[in-house]
Amino acid sequence: MIIRRVVLLLVLALFASISIGVIVGLNPPARSGPDGTLVGSPSLAAPVAPSESVSPTQTAESKQTAGPKRSSTSKPTTKPKKSTASTKASTTSNNKTKKKDKNKKKSRNKKKGSRYLSGPLKEGSGGTVYLTFDDGPGTFTPKILKILSRSGSTATFFHLGVNERGFPKMDAQIRAQGSRVANHSYNHPDLTRLSASQLRWQLRHGPKAKCFRPPYGATNNTVRKAVGKAGMRQVLWDVDTLDWSKPGVATLAKTGRLRSIADGTIILMHDGGGDRTQTVVALPTMISDLQARGFKLRALPYC
Ligand SMILES: [Zn+2]
Repeated sequence: MIIRRVVLLLVLALFASISIGVIVGLNPPARSGPDGTLVGSPSLAAPVAPSESVSPTQTAESKQTAGPKRSSTSKPTTKPKKSTASTKASTTSNNKTKKKDKNKKKSRNKKKGSRYLSGPLKEGSGGTVYLTFDDGPGTFTPKILKILSRSGSTATFFHLGVNERGFPKMDAQIRAQGSRVANHSYNHPDLTRLSASQLRWQLRHGPKAKCFRPPYGATNNTVRKAVGKAGMRQVLWDVDTLDWSKPGVATLAKTGRLRSIADGTIILMHDGGGDRTQTVVALPTMISDLQARGFKLRALPYC
């Protein structure tokens, strides 16, 4: 009897230990299952897997949340030089690209190729495209004027009052060529950060003109109203070549092949503010490509 009881107890103990073992053994995988995908070593997988799987989503979320916050709060500081200075189309595409992952970037690169017309250019529906040059006058301005003259074109030069001192005859030469001079402020501040009197001063001390382009494209209701009060029209742009960032002659020269260019498109370039060699070298190709598409290149008629 005693032996039977001992055996029975042993059997019960064995059964109990097995069942406990099963419960203990099952619980960790059950926990690690939903948390992480690793099931092999539950005790390790549970803490490691979440930290690995969460971190990418955390960075993606932080990029998405931080992105808009940065662009909205820091607009007056760093972004305007590029984002507000770039086109409506390019700003939205920039925001989109930040959110996209690597795979989507690849497909975007393919789309990027289609931004440009390939092969021989055929004459299209025609119309007028407006080349504009900012931040001069400077040593590159006469070179640009020559290229414009050779191609029978004119353009609009948004110049800074401070630079006119060094090139007192340049604006007269621009007008004599048939191109136009417009106002780009005295010395290129972010006008949205100025007091009302400072803003008026900047508008008064730029070139006397009918048109005004705010530096960095940074504008708001106050700036627009002040520009209007000063008797000028605010002019921004449709295509930003980003020539100031020196993207390379090949890239700049492709501007004339941009599909987005149509009748009335305003293109932003620079004749001042730094070494504009790339702009000058790329310009003849740009112009001849645009002309091959049937576009005339003219100064803005209302400036
Ligand atoms: Zn500028």
